[in-house]
Amino acid sequence: MEKKTIALIAHDNKKNEIVSWAIKNKSRLEKFSLCGTGHTAKMVEEATGLPVKAYLSGPLGGDQQIGAKVAEGEISMVVFFWDPLQMQPHDPDVKALLRIAVVYDIPIATNEATADCIIK
Ligand code: PGA
Repeated sequence: MEKKTIALIAHDNKKNEIVSWAIKNKSRLEKFSLCGTGHTAKMVEEATGLPVKAYLSGPLGGDQQIGAKVAEGEISMVVFFWDPLQMQPHDPDVKALLRIAVVYDIPIATNEATADCIIK
């Protein structure tokens, strides 16, 4: 059976958090295909040794690429640690991704507590 895909995205102030979450959940994550925005994907791949397909960096369109994959039914869960304390230049793309996850009714974890609930 084909593995389901999880997308991983974290804003800069949240990158350490997603990396430690991924290390903590490595044995669970290895049952999935993984993808993510550019820098997040690279950092998680290096830290866990799991392959993570990298899309563009978020500010350069990575969130939109992942949103498109959600719309095409190719992503079953998104872990998206966005930064609630800092404006992002790509704020419209961030909102669009949150919206499209709701439209297609896929789980989208925007903090560690939720990501823990979903992955378990
Ligand atoms: P990045 O993009 O993983 O390439 O840093 C994340 C974002 O800022 O949306």
